[in-house]
Amino acid sequence: MKIPGKELIPYWLGEKLRGAWQRYLSLKYKGTDYHCPYCGNSFKKFLPGGTDLPVLTEKMIIGGGFRDNLLCPRCFSVDRDRLIYLYLKEKTNIFSARLKILHIAPEGCIRSLLMSLPNTDYHSGVKYFEGYYYDRKVKLIDVTSLQFESESFDVVICNHVLEHVHDDQKALEEIHRILKPNGWAILQVPISDKLGETEYDPSISTPEDREKIYGQHDHVRIYGQDYPKFLERNGFKVVQYSPFHDSPQETVKKFALNPKEKLFVAYKV
Ligand SMILES: [Zn+2]
Repeated sequence: MKIPGKELIPYWLGEKLRGAWQRYLSLKYKGTDYHCPYCGNSFKKFLPGGTDLPVLTEKMIIGGGFRDNLLCPRCFSVDRDRLIYLYLKEKTNIFSARLKILHIAPEGCIRSLLMSLPNTDYHSGVKYFEGYYYDRKVKLIDVTSLQFESESFDVVICNHVLEHVHDDQKALEEIHRILKPNGWAILQVPISDKLGETEYDPSISTPEDREKIYGQHDHVRIYGQDYPKFLERNGFKVVQYSPFHDSPQETVKKFALNPKEKLFVAYKV
């Protein structure tokens, strides 16, 4: 999550302020209508969040834009994080099997959960800290040049990362390389419900132009409906998990999931 001006605050102070703010918000929003599976708290609503840029509406970007019921007041999980939780809980053995996991650009809520599981061998890394909130224990890694042995991970979680990466082809090849046979990766991206083909133009290079054309200052493309084919061309079998069809509706409502958002999960074949 982007926090403007965060780089001006020392990390230790930011931690304290963030913790105090979250404790205050979780009391203020305490209720029963909505539930966050990461921190285990319930609320009368989640916090609003996201940006309201014209391009996000015009191109019908799923996973971007303003949402009135988005952020958990206690742990700052967002709808797509809670969608991942539901998939992990209902469709995988991640809570019980011995699995080696790589989490790229790790969201704090997902990282805390996976690190707490005694059965997992958890690794995480990110390329940039600037302007984002990551635990300082997270290592520096480059998704286009992963310094890990081939076929060494059971699971990769790479959530809203590829839209930041110029060479997403190389990133996919690297993720495919480090996965064991039958390993799987969550490769979620913001995706246009309108564009047939992915839009990518490396000449769009300033933060202002990227925000205007792609909907965020550091995004380098907008994926279109051809995204699953892109994964398939790189040796993955793609499962599109839609909680509105595949999960109890009561849970979907409590987690305040986006009705249009499907989770893209890629299995190494
Ligand atoms: Zn939470």
